[in-house]
Amino acid sequence: MIPWYEPHFWGEEKKYVLDALESTWISDGEYIKKFESTMEKILGAKHVITTSNGTASLMLAYLALGLGPGDEIIVPGFTFAAPANMILAIGATPVFADVDAETWLLCPTSVEEKITAKTKAIVPVHIYGNVCDMDKLRHIAEKYNLYIIEDVAEAAFSTYRGQQAGTLGDIGSFSFQATKTITMGEGGAICTNNPSLQEIARLIRNHGMRPSKRYWHEVVGHNFRLTNLQAALGYAQLENVDKIIENKKRVYERYKKNLSGQQGIFLQVMTDGCEPVVWAIAVKIDSTVVSLTRDDLIIALKEAGIETRPGFYPLSELPIYHAEPLVNATDVARNVLSLPSYTMISDADIDHVCEVFLNIAKRNQVHNHAL
Ligand SMILES: *Cc1c(COP(=O)(O)O)cnc(C)c1O
Repeated sequence: MIPWYEPHFWGEEKKYVLDALESTWISDGEYIKKFESTMEKILGAKHVITTSNGTASLMLAYLALGLGPGDEIIVPGFTFAAPANMILAIGATPVFADVDAETWLLCPTSVEEKITAKTKAIVPVHIYGNVCDMDKLRHIAEKYNLYIIEDVAEAAFSTYRGQQAGTLGDIGSFSFQATKTITMGEGGAICTNNPSLQEIARLIRNHGMRPSKRYWHEVVGHNFRLTNLQAALGYAQLENVDKIIENKKRVYERYKKNLSGQQGIFLQVMTDGCEPVVWAIAVKIDSTVVSLTRDDLIIALKEAGIETRPGFYPLSELPIYHAEPLVNATDVARNVLSLPSYTMISDADIDHVCEVFLNIAKRNQVHNHAL
């Protein structure tokens, strides 16, 4: 079976985790500082604040910006649900905008249509490694005085016009879960260039407690802290970031070479100005050419020993959100699947996946279509 994902360790992970363990500093510790300062350098961001996971990062970002009940926050209708869930968790209202038909990311025109007097923020989610049209989104944010919180969980180290994703708005939110580009099992971080945002975020992350006055709780805080054990693992990964990025690019280029221009499938179109570090290679089935549904295709691939994942459900279909369907979000959600994309998948395995995939598509062409 070719798995959909598989974390890769470069060698120092074990050493650093053992070092953290033997130091007895297993909650706070030096690896957290090392990880944060290394990330700051890589991102070109003034402040990186680690958290327990990418979902906590999103909640921390919202809370640091003072968002809450009565506020509307715009999120895409096609995304992993965490950014929308955390809007509900802070008592604010998620408002769903449609995605672009080609990039599958938050559509600026749709965003502008959804703005009301209550709108406070926009959450561009950089799905699969592609980066949203940040020029247009920033223009809208300035025009209506809105915050931008980038969800970079799937786009760590992708750049946009030469700048790192996550540093293009007020706060960027990262995840370091097992399948993400940098992993520590579970973990996350936010980044910001704003010193007062970093100060309030550090307070909220640690019980709202003043660092200089123990047990003095200044704001309502959470415990969103990362452990030193996880940071040790993540730090070893960061030391190999160049090799990780190089391999992510190799995997993407190989899939692109094999699959682009093939009838019946569309690759995600990268936003103009985006240099992606693709987290998951996603393809969209052209249902006018391929008769098999996406879900049946996933089953056929599984029978051939290839594990894939469907696109996310459109959030309008999840009853918790009470949202109206959006045309592109629904279409993308129904027809997208992601292929095995882990950092160290071999070229031979990629070629095999593509060959099997294209053969299944060919055997299931819509009548009158020559593939
Ligand atoms: C993975 C992911 C998250 C959540 O991160 P966790 O670390 O699993 O909590 C949030 N947003 C997106 C887009 C993700 O892919």
